[in-house]
Amino acid sequence: MVDDDIVAATRGRLRELCYLKPDEAAALGRSLAGSGGLMEAEGWLHVALAEVRTGREGAADAALAQARQGFEALGHATGLAWCDEVQAIALRRAGDYAASANLQAELDGRTGIERDALYRFLAHNSRAITHKVNGHCDDALRHFYAAHDAAVESGLDGPRVTAIGNLGGFHQDLYNLDDARRLSEEGLEQACRLGLRQVVTVTAANLVFIRHAMGDGAGAHAMAVFMLENPAQTLPDLAHIFPLPLALGHLAHGDIERALRFLEAGAVTGIADGDGLCDWAWIKARCLLAQDNAVGARELVERTLQQRAERQLAEQPYPSMQLRQALADACERLGDHRAALGWQRQAHERYAHLVGRSARARFIALEVGHQLATAQRERDKAVLGHREAEHDRRRLVELNAALEAKMAETEQLHQALREQALRDPLTGLHNRRYLFEAGPGLLELARRQQRIACVALLDLDHFKLLNDTYGHQAGDQVLRRFAALLKETLRRSDILCRYGGEEFVAVMPDIDANDAHAVLARLLEALRTLPPEPGRRRVPNGSFSAGIAVFPRHGSTLEKLLHRADKALYTAKHQGRARIEQVPATGFGTLA
Ligand code: GH3
Ligand code: MG
Ligand code: MG
Repeated sequence: MVDDDIVAATRGRLRELCYLKPDEAAALGRSLAGSGGLMEAEGWLHVALAEVRTGREGAADAALAQARQGFEALGHATGLAWCDEVQAIALRRAGDYAASANLQAELDGRTGIERDALYRFLAHNSRAITHKVNGHCDDALRHFYAAHDAAVESGLDGPRVTAIGNLGGFHQDLYNLDDARRLSEEGLEQACRLGLRQVVTVTAANLVFIRHAMGDGAGAHAMAVFMLENPAQTLPDLAHIFPLPLALGHLAHGDIERALRFLEAGAVTGIADGDGLCDWAWIKARCLLAQDNAVGARELVERTLQQRAERQLAEQPYPSMQLRQALADACERLGDHRAALGWQRQAHERYAHLVGRSARARFIALEVGHQLATAQRERDKAVLGHREAEHDRRRLVELNAALEAKMAETEQLHQALREQALRDPLTGLHNRRYLFEAGPGLLELARRQQRIACVALLDLDHFKLLNDTYGHQAGDQVLRRFAALLKETLRRSDILCRYGGEEFVAVMPDIDANDAHAVLARLLEALRTLPPEPGRRRVPNGSFSAGIAVFPRHGSTLEKLLHRADKALYTAKHQGRARIEQVPATGFGTLA
């Protein structure tokens, strides 16, 4: 009986330590050598897990062979599955992703294994990382959440803090900064409480980047200060192994001298790989800009981009965006507006990629789905455990209410995300996607009611010239003002959208071509006579050209109408711009 207690206690201790303090877990595992049977095999298994996670391959292989031998002698299928899980981690760490994924797939199909919470945590976490390195973000995120679930269920601190850290880090990779920040802050707190210096340091470093990316300069600085001022909680020799977050934190605080000193320290030691250099370069360029050295910043970034191109290094969107943004700012300051606009546009492309509205929405929805599942599970548990007690009944009512509230919140979030996905962030008008979602319905209604509608395509005149002359920020300002005017002049029932860069589409039900023409003529006049905004640099509003097509005369679908309106717009441009053209009458009726 006593022996059983000792075995249970040792097993518990191994499970407790394996993700918390790998070295102690390995030492405890090794101390079981010679004890024989299941206990010894489990000891070797934990040695293997600890060694593989700390990157000592030889020691891991040897321990794994011992563990396998032990489990095989006992015919212990679950133990052997554990060994294969560790093997899959080792394969991935050695860079053999395909073999690792195959082994995991085979394990998922295996029967007759007991998959307890710790096993499920390890398995999901490991699959998540395999998916991540293979670039399968959705699958990776799902497994990270499942690993988190299992970690919570296991009641063990090590898996829990690992799972939170991995989730936060992955949301950061996906540029889902809100979740990244929340999870990383939670992870940091847990890691501090548990005294895990490695996790504390890495998480704090990530948080500097996250807070800076969210525009929270003070928060980024506070985190860098935390790293420097808590030597008992972080890893030693910080300035050399984590120069970039320290530099960024000080840059965010306007302490350029110190930021540069960290960058110099890091230049010789910490940052060997391409990605590190890319981060290093944009932070340094920002420092140079802060010192008014636009020439130096421009040279540095151009050189970095050239070196990356020569070495054919793959791009990470975030540092790549930052590099281009810094270059655009440097060019703008040097008065080279054309180059500035070009780099700005490249930076913006990467930004759009990062934000990828719909992808973000999906990931958030997924996370909310996860919370929902948790609430649901709790309710199910309560239903099961529901005996006659009044106390239980009341709890069930509470949980149901919480679940309903959660569902309502989810619905609201979905709606808000949907609305965001259908708007153009610059002008606040709807975007092209909305046009193609709502436009066909509007035309269908007109068809059933036997009414007409107009589709107008508007394009600002000589907009490129305006950008080149006044800078793209002035261009953006004109886009916003034009959009506001458009909203004021047209009816609320019309669909208005930003169709492309400086192109807009209006779908106007119940109006004929002449009336539409008159409305747009009023808009053109309003644009020309719009007074300058007080306190802003004077930028001419310019003019626009437009083409109008009529439903159903010129086409039965939105696409056809847009095509005809575009042709009319082309004519307007050719006839001198600042004009509105209708689809010309043909002698032979409709050409739909
Ligand atoms: P045209 O009268 O023939 O229409 O001449 P244009 O210069 O307006 O036509 P073009 O299509 O060649 O140029 C459109 C310009 O609009 C190119 C691009 O630089 C600019 N542009 C597109 N999107 C944006 C934006 O979001 N902001 C700013 N500032 N400019 C933009
Ligand atoms: Mg255009
Ligand atoms: Mg134009």
